[in-house]
Amino acid sequence: MALRTASRALRQLSRQANGIPSGAMRARPSTRGYATPTMGQQNRTAIVTGSSRGIGKAIALRLAQDGYDLCINDIPANKSGADEVVKHVQGMGRRAFPYMADVSNLKEVEDMVQASVSELGPLNTMVANAGIAQVKALLDLTEQDLKRMFEVNVYGVFNCYSSAAKQMIKQGNGGKLLGAASIVAFKPFALLSHYSASKWAVRGMTQAFAMEMAEHKITVNAYAPGIVGTAMWDLIDEELGKKKGAKKGDTIKKYSSELIALGRTSVPEDVSSTVSFLCSPDSDYMTGQTIVIDGGIIFT
Ligand code: NAD
Repeated sequence: MALRTASRALRQLSRQANGIPSGAMRARPSTRGYATPTMGQQNRTAIVTGSSRGIGKAIALRLAQDGYDLCINDIPANKSGADEVVKHVQGMGRRAFPYMADVSNLKEVEDMVQASVSELGPLNTMVANAGIAQVKALLDLTEQDLKRMFEVNVYGVFNCYSSAAKQMIKQGNGGKLLGAASIVAFKPFALLSHYSASKWAVRGMTQAFAMEMAEHKITVNAYAPGIVGTAMWDLIDEELGKKKGAKKGDTIKKYSSELIALGRTSVPEDVSSTVSFLCSPDSDYMTGQTIVIDGGIIFT
């Protein structure tokens, strides 16, 4: 008896330590149904931000293969890329439409969520993938550099998580929120300091959203790619090369051979297959996690 009381007190303490309201934890696991299993695998819808190219495009194509209908978002400058992704998805037999919006603007993100619901139906999944990078020494950073990095990478993820969550709560069937973090959310890269700090913020916000959204049956997770050969790394490679006197292409080659245990640069599909899992019912019992997919750079 005394043993049972002590173990109940211990459980209570651990809930409090994790910041989980005792009421939320009292619900038995069997009372929690997530949107994906109850609605089945068919007719799910997702918004993927920054999906005209790179990792976002690979995620959109993989989710289409998984049976999702899609809102393909990017900035107006990348509209033609977004249109091509839409055509590709439609060719796979799924519904898709392009929506140009800047994720750093809350109103534009709210309008995008509403457009997705009108065009495709209830929103099941938001993938806040859009992001920017900049290579610059800490002491050269301007106020504007720091501001823009956080506007896109941090406010952008907040705008996507919060607008999608409000819609999902209205629908009453739960849902899934995903954000793009990075290995630099675990250990910063020199000369990518404000980018690294923005990705730490994504990881922190993902944990905080997971706590507050659990009672609405919404799970919140982030993915943390390593060195992926996209336009973003072309820029990082070129800028780091300029600073260190290396030729174009040499920095990414050096980093890949010296840092990655599996010995090759990542491709977007390495990331999209993990995101597919995080968007599927198979991950329904995961929330607040940031999953590293880097071929073995950071060991968590
Ligand atoms: P990318 O530059 O190829 O693609 C990013 C896309 O986001 C672009 O199409 C861009 O136009 C869009 N975008 C930028 N700002 C936007 C805004 N304000 N609103 C809407 N769209 C916007 O980059 P990627 O390599 O495909 O990266 C995708 C995500 O993964 C990013 O968040 C990035 O930080 C993260 N990531 C990438 C790597 C890598 O090695 N490439 C590693 C770790 C994390």
